[in-house]
Amino acid sequence: MTVKFKRVALIGLGLIAGSMAHAIRAAGLADEITGYARSAETREIARQIGLCDRVLDSATEAVEGADLVVLAVPVGAMGPVAQEIAPHLASGAILTDVGSVKQAVIEAVGPHVPAGVHFIPGHPLAGTEHSGPRSGFATLFQNRWWLLTPPPDTDPVAVQRLTDLIRAMGANVEIMEPAHHDLVLAVTSHAPHLIAYTMVGVADHLRRVTEGEVIKYSAAGFRDFTRIAASDPTMWRDVFLTNREATLDILGRFTEELFALQRAIRMGDGQQLHDYFTRTRAIRRGIV
Ligand code: NAD
Repeated sequence: MTVKFKRVALIGLGLIAGSMAHAIRAAGLADEITGYARSAETREIARQIGLCDRVLDSATEAVEGADLVVLAVPVGAMGPVAQEIAPHLASGAILTDVGSVKQAVIEAVGPHVPAGVHFIPGHPLAGTEHSGPRSGFATLFQNRWWLLTPPPDTDPVAVQRLTDLIRAMGANVEIMEPAHHDLVLAVTSHAPHLIAYTMVGVADHLRRVTEGEVIKYSAAGFRDFTRIAASDPTMWRDVFLTNREATLDILGRFTEELFALQRAIRMGDGQQLHDYFTRTRAIRRGIV
């Protein structure tokens, strides 16, 4: 399978766009990669490290003549960026995004997409707690899922072209319905991030009592929470503001479970705790 784009434009030059730039280069998937980020400092760093072939000072210049445009900005910025670049998109181009929420991005971007441009929303299930133009690396997407949520009337040839590119970067592609995506991700990613933020917040409240011992003796459990809680604040603010309903639904269910376990601990109900942990261990063993 050969897939090659003439010009890939990356809007937003952080972890995901940076990793795409490295992966596209490594696999020779584009003749040219152009890039733009809002912050002048980010653009300067991207130029210094040669992240793209050309880093432009405006999004509209960056998308000029591109046959693939990738929106890799925080979810809340997708709509305004799409509105700005829309008149400059080439006819026949594929426009995709990598946002962690899909319904809100489709609502914000969809109305701006000109006729003749194929909008195929997407979400790579890959990331780290790092952000910014230096954080990307070519193997980020290896063996990870990349979900696409194209509207039913999307040109299948365009979907196939984007799928081929994603597969060539090492990821597995699955097509999903946007609302279903948002619910699944609320369980698997969004709610766990919020819980990690609160665990680290609680430890911070206790700082005076524990005199820094939480950090000094942080064992695997808490250490994992702190890694997740170090993720980019802007990105996660936007995720919760835009995937509100699904996240609130999951958090409601989570709170019920937490109260049930809290009660079992209070009542000394070892059987309930043991049964619960046995069920969750079976789930983990089904994953790995
Ligand atoms: P990042 O913080 O590393 O990079 C974001 C980039 O967008 C920065 O270069 C910033 O300068 C730029 N930017 C911000 N607002 C902009 C605007 N209005 N116009 C142009 N550029 C702007 O973030 P990231 O981790 O690469 O995330 C980008 C997108 O990918 C987000 O929508 C996020 O939800 C999604 N995503 C992130 C992860 C993850 O784990 N980090 C995983 C999958 C998807």
